[in-house]
Amino acid sequence: MKHYLLLLLICISPLSHAKQIAITFDDSPRKADGYFDGPERAQKLIQALKKHNIAQVAFFSNSLGLNAEGIQRLQSYSQAGHIIANHTHSHPDFNNMTVEEYAQNFLLADLELKQFKGFKKLFRFPYLRDGNSELKRTGMQAVLKKQGYINAYITLNNYDWYMEDLFQRAIKKGVALDFDRMRQFYVQVLMESIEYYDAMAQTHLGRSPKHILLLHEMDISALFVGDLVDALRRKGWSIITPEEAYTDDIAQYQPQGVFSYNPGRIGEIARDKGQKAGLWHHTLDEAYLEKRFAEEVLSIKLERVME
Ligand SMILES: [Zn+2]
Repeated sequence: MKHYLLLLLICISPLSHAKQIAITFDDSPRKADGYFDGPERAQKLIQALKKHNIAQVAFFSNSLGLNAEGIQRLQSYSQAGHIIANHTHSHPDFNNMTVEEYAQNFLLADLELKQFKGFKKLFRFPYLRDGNSELKRTGMQAVLKKQGYINAYITLNNYDWYMEDLFQRAIKKGVALDFDRMRQFYVQVLMESIEYYDAMAQTHLGRSPKHILLLHEMDISALFVGDLVDALRRKGWSIITPEEAYTDDIAQYQPQGVFSYNPGRIGEIARDKGQKAGLWHHTLDEAYLEKRFAEEVLSIKLERVME
């Protein structure tokens, strides 16, 4: 009987129950003057995505970076089949701006990013700050709607940008970095935050939603995104396109209150359901990452260094 039940369970669990995740990169064309230069980074990133059978990701771009080299980079992402989307012109902080100023910045990016074949009307708020008052939030939502955009929220937050900082600083200092250790550090930290937010989603939704991972267009992304995807697949995740991810019901979710510092859609849902602590995973912390980088990549016990 037990075996029969087990067999039945296996049979009624369709493959679609694999956890699903879309990959997005913010801030392209992001500063590149360290390990790789801009064109190298773009080439490596495109190669890594292709090698790991990731058909489509989205690049949330800032049009301020569109000099000849920046245009070339976005062009190459676009030509490789990826989405180019709007992340404002100059990456302003909505907490310090009126809706009118912010909307202008958004519209300027719209105008300049339209030139790319892969352009889609998806908008990601810089710092995920979508309005620190009800008036600002609804104001910008109305602007997006009028322009035919959707709010390209994220569900999986992390501080990959700080891991890049640690990496570039070590390279600049001439540290002979152990790339295997760096790779492990990157993959482990990201997997921990991904699993944390997925568990939080399951607690509050009773299911694993179609997730959207926030990454940035950086050197460590180009170097290690393939390893991250391998780790995800080993744990039963499948990679979906960003547009597929935004068909999830949580795309229609209207948060009940404003956040000055938004942790992402799962955090919004959790807070509305009464969760107060832990909306930010503990890996989203500079000092914490610095300590782990020193121990796990550089093999330094930080306490000893500070004596
Ligand atoms: Zn950004």
